[in-house]
Amino acid sequence: MASFEEADGTLVRLCPRGRLTETISKLANDHEITSLVGFEVEITFCRRSSPDAGDTFTPLDSSHAWSTMTDEQLADAMPSMVMICEALADAGIYIQQFHSEAGQGQYEFVLPPSPPVEAIDTLYQARQIIQQMARRAGLRATCHPSPFPPVGTACHANISLSSGDASAREEKQMSFFAGVLSHLPALCAFTLPEEVSYVRVADDHWTSGTWVAWGTQNREVPVRRVAGTDGTTERWEVRCLDGMPNMYLAMFAVFAAGLQGLNDGTEMRLNDCQSNPSQLSAVDRIDLGIETKIPTSLSQSLEALEADAGLIEVLGTEVVDHYIGMKKAEQAMLNEMDDKTRQIWLMERY
Ligand code: GLU
Ligand code: MG
Repeated sequence: MASFEEADGTLVRLCPRGRLTETISKLANDHEITSLVGFEVEITFCRRSSPDAGDTFTPLDSSHAWSTMTDEQLADAMPSMVMICEALADAGIYIQQFHSEAGQGQYEFVLPPSPPVEAIDTLYQARQIIQQMARRAGLRATCHPSPFPPVGTACHANISLSSGDASAREEKQMSFFAGVLSHLPALCAFTLPEEVSYVRVADDHWTSGTWVAWGTQNREVPVRRVAGTDGTTERWEVRCLDGMPNMYLAMFAVFAAGLQGLNDGTEMRLNDCQSNPSQLSAVDRIDLGIETKIPTSLSQSLEALEADAGLIEVLGTEVVDHYIGMKKAEQAMLNEMDDKTRQIWLMERY
């Protein structure tokens, strides 16, 4: 939750938080766009099994209901959730919505919209509070994208861009998201930054599907346009995003791609997809302009990044080279572990 500066106060080009700040200023100064981001923090609460049973995690609740709660959840999980929400409120973080998500032990805390850098500062603070309060209750609260497969755990970012009247706004939003979607495979290297992140690249799991597409009220695409109750509350939900990234870096990459879309006046070639792209015929998909698949592994995303000269130009080769080098070294380290050790290692840390 800090930025790096050179001794003379200039921005360190490798600082993700500083580069995001710079990108948001360019959106405001060059395109008169005010941006807000609201994160949906999905968390899986786990118990650690007894040492006799081996070092492993089990979900907090065994009888679990989505959007409502079973007796077990009300009795065993709710006291911790109340404690967490009170601790967040004490820190000035007011949860906009809270609900029981689809997976066992999975709960969602929706943070209010804020300017992007502030939203990420709050995201990290909120996550630390949630994880620390859980620890006091003897639990592990993890952002791991799939602690208990096949259910996914995400950290969706709801982006709203406001600028001028409705038609100016519409045009700018379209160029911004045309930029984002045209670089999406490469952006996944930042937004889905671990091998396990790709468990969520699946159809029919509400996790954002497998096709590069956007759609109004569509949960099976990586970018969902969410119509608000009035023109001002509309937002775009980036769904191909989990709790594993450096979120400053992930949002820097997304906003830089959007900014490039605006600078170049990139045309949106994808039409609004309001159904599940995997259930459309090939012809119907092509009619909507849907032709590209989301990478299904980190190595594919990193290759897409290495091949995306346009994105490398806006992020800077120094950022991309360091990032790719770091990811390769990290994956080599993780690949030395057996599957169970790696799963526990990641669940302990994220
Ligand atoms: N847990 C789902 C995911 O991994 C998201 C469910 C939702 O909030 O739409 O993407
Ligand atoms: Mg959710």
